[in-house]
Amino acid sequence: MLTRLAPTPSGYIHTGNIYNFLLNWLWARSNNGKVMLRIDDGDATRKRKEYVEDIFYVLDWLGLDWDIGPSGPGDFEANWSQLKRTDLYKDILDELVKKNCVFACTCSRNQACQCAEKKANLHQTNTAWKMKVIENSSIHFRDKIMGNTAIDILPFVIKRKDGFASYQVCSLADDRHFGITHICRGNDLKESTAMQLYIDQQTALPSFYQCQFWHHLLIPGTNGIKLSKSAGVSAESIIKTYSKADIFSSFASWMGWQHAGEITLQEMVQAPVFNMGK
Ligand SMILES: [Zn+2]
Repeated sequence: MLTRLAPTPSGYIHTGNIYNFLLNWLWARSNNGKVMLRIDDGDATRKRKEYVEDIFYVLDWLGLDWDIGPSGPGDFEANWSQLKRTDLYKDILDELVKKNCVFACTCSRNQACQCAEKKANLHQTNTAWKMKVIENSSIHFRDKIMGNTAIDILPFVIKRKDGFASYQVCSLADDRHFGITHICRGNDLKESTAMQLYIDQQTALPSFYQCQFWHHLLIPGTNGIKLSKSAGVSAESIIKTYSKADIFSSFASWMGWQHAGEITLQEMVQAPVFNMGK
């Protein structure tokens, strides 16, 4: 079993990231599984050095360790950045083009896309690549909590106009490359799961479909945490605003666990939810 913590370094870590880290970490540790830290910087147009550093500060502060991934910001940039794996993403894009799964899209953001019919040249400038999707395509997968789930998808971007592979391709390629087996992500990423499963299906060596998925409820913003100190929109690391006990306590409440006083990682890892529906 291998889960992953996969933050995007386009802002400081927020409670949503932390709850997600906790879920993935606890899920792995309660099953003697491993954890990977993967920082998704391929699509991070707002990436900043301090955001990358913040990820390491916060994980250390929370006491969450990982078995695979960078040891710190320097190691991340040198060896683990998604920019080091562009060949991996290009291989998937090339395969999809060969299999005639792709069309060129020259639309502006707000335009209804009718490019699938136009069959424009994929290699002209200022062109995104979109995945062809047959109308009313429903993708089925099993979710740990929701059970059998069906999601309808529409054509979606796999290569952006700036030439970089889209989030769907990078995330899928990385999950397959590193052998991720269990993915816990927010409900708002159900469509991403479906799109990634769809790409996976179209390739010669699909493996993503073997993953266990858990789409968790959306996490309340920082005001979901009851604290004396008003946080507002933090312009700095969360560790300067909250105590770890407050974060753990609000996470436990969000999970619906009864607990008196402080709760530790060692206590949380025992929660039955992490063992059910494997
Ligand atoms: Zn279009």
